[in-house]
Amino acid sequence: MKFTTQMDAARKGILTKEMQVVAKKEQIDTQELMKLVAEGKVAIPANKNHTSLDPNGVGFKLKTKINVNLGVSRDSTDLNVELEKVNEAVALGAESIMDLSNHGNTREFRKKLTQECPAIIGTVPIYDAVVYYNKALKDITSQEWIDIARMHAEDGVDFMTIHCGLNRSTAQRFKKNKRLTNIVSRGGSLMFAWMEMTGKENPFYEFYDEVLEICRQYDVTMSLGDACRPGSIADSGDISQIEELVTLGELTKRAWEKDVQVIIEGPGHMPLDQIEANMRIQQTVCHGAPFYVLGPLVTDVAPGYDHITSAIGGAIAATYGASFLCYVTPAEHLRLPTVEDVKEGIIATRIAAHAADIAKGLKGAKDWDYEMSKARKEIDWDRMFELCIDPERAKAYRASSKPEKEDTCSMCGNMCAMKNMNRILEGETISVWNE
Ligand code: SF4
Repeated sequence: MKFTTQMDAARKGILTKEMQVVAKKEQIDTQELMKLVAEGKVAIPANKNHTSLDPNGVGFKLKTKINVNLGVSRDSTDLNVELEKVNEAVALGAESIMDLSNHGNTREFRKKLTQECPAIIGTVPIYDAVVYYNKALKDITSQEWIDIARMHAEDGVDFMTIHCGLNRSTAQRFKKNKRLTNIVSRGGSLMFAWMEMTGKENPFYEFYDEVLEICRQYDVTMSLGDACRPGSIADSGDISQIEELVTLGELTKRAWEKDVQVIIEGPGHMPLDQIEANMRIQQTVCHGAPFYVLGPLVTDVAPGYDHITSAIGGAIAATYGASFLCYVTPAEHLRLPTVEDVKEGIIATRIAAHAADIAKGLKGAKDWDYEMSKARKEIDWDRMFELCIDPERAKAYRASSKPEKEDTCSMCGNMCAMKNMNRILEGETISVWNE
């Protein structure tokens, strides 16, 4: 039997090879996974032209996945550095990479990714349109915006973030209800500016059916962009964001009617106490579609440490329903991240994702922690390093301050509680003082 998208296959009862891979990775029954894909609660972004993909699922009952943003910009044009980031991201366990290139030969890099990279590949066609057409924003036609999305789909990208929820109605509401930091989504701000200058409706909203046909043909997952995501905690949960979310809920249903898979983008900057409610509202309004959050950053005041503000918010968001975390690096708000920044961002986001998986009670999530604590109790350093989320860093820390005795560390030395408790419980006498 033939199928178009993973969702179409699931609805027809066809178990695709991608579903089989995902079910095995997640230790979930294939029939259960198929049902979740059919209902839209899980997306398996897998473009038919992404030949090197090692598929992963995003959504309900699955492990929290993480995305890494990279790509060249006008101020940082070295493709080799971006490729180094890709390799680092894959090696560190990122399931998804978004190529946000907005300068130079973006197509060549994008195609290289879909031919060689096993991670899910996402893009934002709006950025690329400005570079590709090489003309002023206001001169891009509605059809040209759509054509860019088609080109990305042909190139094999697995998901596209498209800001189709920012229509003229939301734009009017946004103008009436002033915000501290306006629209901070790059794609959202470009589309808002285009609508203001041309007086036209957002083409991705106006010609949404055409966009869906493209997605259906190649099996591109729609990542419904949140143009009005808050860029400061002062703007969090305001009327523009909520109105856009309601539109995204309607667009989700229309996508599912055409068997197009959907994920929903979310905030943004958001105080801790609002995150749980925001996740619940999203699940209700968007009918349980997987939620992809950009942070949330729980305070605005920590440039240089925003991988931490984001990991705090991400852990809470994922605990209460988000299934996909976009990493944030320490360079956020300051510059394009270096390879080292990328690494810091990935590790922080992986910690957040894993912490949420424990809290959600996902099958097997706690086993990793159990093994680590067992190795700690046994003071088995090799095993501890094997289990570390970042073994390289852990080894470097230990090596930088050697203890007098191998079975302790320089933190407590002879007062090592782990060691002394093991010994006393085995009936040994411990002196501590003269050992
Ligand atoms: S010395 Fe202290 S910190 Fe180090 S392993 Fe023992 S109990 Fe842990």
